[in-house]
Amino acid sequence: MAFRFSELNWQQIDSLDRDKTIFLLPTGAIEQHGPHLPVDTDIYNSNLLVEHVAENSGGNVTALPPIWWGTSPHHKGYPGTISLKLETFHHLLNDIFSSLTAHGFYRFLVINGHGGNAGILTASTADLSETLGVSIPTYSYWQSIKQVLIDIGDSEIGGMGHACEMETSLALYHRPELVDMKAIAKDMPDVRVALSCIDFRQPGFLGIPLDFRRDSKSGVMGDPTLATAEKGEKIFKAALVAATDAVQALLSADREVLITERFN
Ligand SMILES: [Zn+2]
Repeated sequence: MAFRFSELNWQQIDSLDRDKTIFLLPTGAIEQHGPHLPVDTDIYNSNLLVEHVAENSGGNVTALPPIWWGTSPHHKGYPGTISLKLETFHHLLNDIFSSLTAHGFYRFLVINGHGGNAGILTASTADLSETLGVSIPTYSYWQSIKQVLIDIGDSEIGGMGHACEMETSLALYHRPELVDMKAIAKDMPDVRVALSCIDFRQPGFLGIPLDFRRDSKSGVMGDPTLATAEKGEKIFKAALVAATDAVQALLSADREVLITERFN
């Protein structure tokens, strides 16, 4: 049977074992990624991860159609960013998961590819835990491979933030034809925002909402000049191992672990 939800018919979906099937939802963004990377960088990465895990799972992992857009108000100063309001994103999550829980499905995992979605994902899934009675786990893929990023990163802290050493390496590995090598330039966060630095390895402790028009020269935050396809391969393969581990853990979790008390 197809591993993509979108390629199944309703009878095939109805035949899926509720206790043994997990649905993976990729979230990301369509937003500016500097002058050298395509605007779909974040959703491309999370969707690819989800599809690889589902395809190699042996049948009990289904890849949901991705939510292409995310909440990206901090990138709206650049053309190419299509940003959802927080309420829109929350409503999308609610509508997608309530449609699935209505038919008895309860094993889910959201794999996120855009830092700007992290807060709303935490808040929304907490709310859905109450309203739908199901706990929906979420994580952003870089959180699962922090040590790998520390080990392979050549940039100073601040070099893996946005359209950076990490994201450019992934793009060079997966689709180098979409990377404009002539446009790659280092653009580090300045001292003013260093404490709120969005480095994937070691984020700053101070949560200043960013505005990339104000805080960056080119839309980049980091050092994409140090990116290589080899690093991208190591990053992606490590993320794949971590995602597979997470899926296996959730598939073997008792039903009671994922079902919540409903108070409404
Ligand atoms: Zn990104």
